[in-house]
Amino acid sequence: MDWRERASCADPDIDPGVFFPPVEHRVPRGWEKKAIEVCKMCAVNKECLNEALKRRETEGVWGGLTGWERHLRKGGPRPSRGRPRPTEE
Ligand code: SF4
Repeated sequence: MDWRERASCADPDIDPGVFFPPVEHRVPRGWEKKAIEVCKMCAVNKECLNEALKRRETEGVWGGLTGWERHLRKGGPRPSRGRPRPTEE
């Protein structure tokens, strides 16, 4: 069985939209909280995070981490002072 078949986000009662930032000029702070709650309860969050890191996914919440958090996890550079963070967060 593929790990995706055991994903909490595959539940039809879970809105897949919560895993991605709203398409707005200014993304509201905390948009990712609902997704992270779902991921915490997910039986395959380690597999999911590993897949996102392997694929260098930059968008959305995977394995309970945002794209920015995954970037830092992989040792990506932190922004210098005054440089805007990715719009996702
Ligand atoms: S960790 Fe989150 S995004 Fe990944 S499969 Fe589970 S619920 Fe879906």
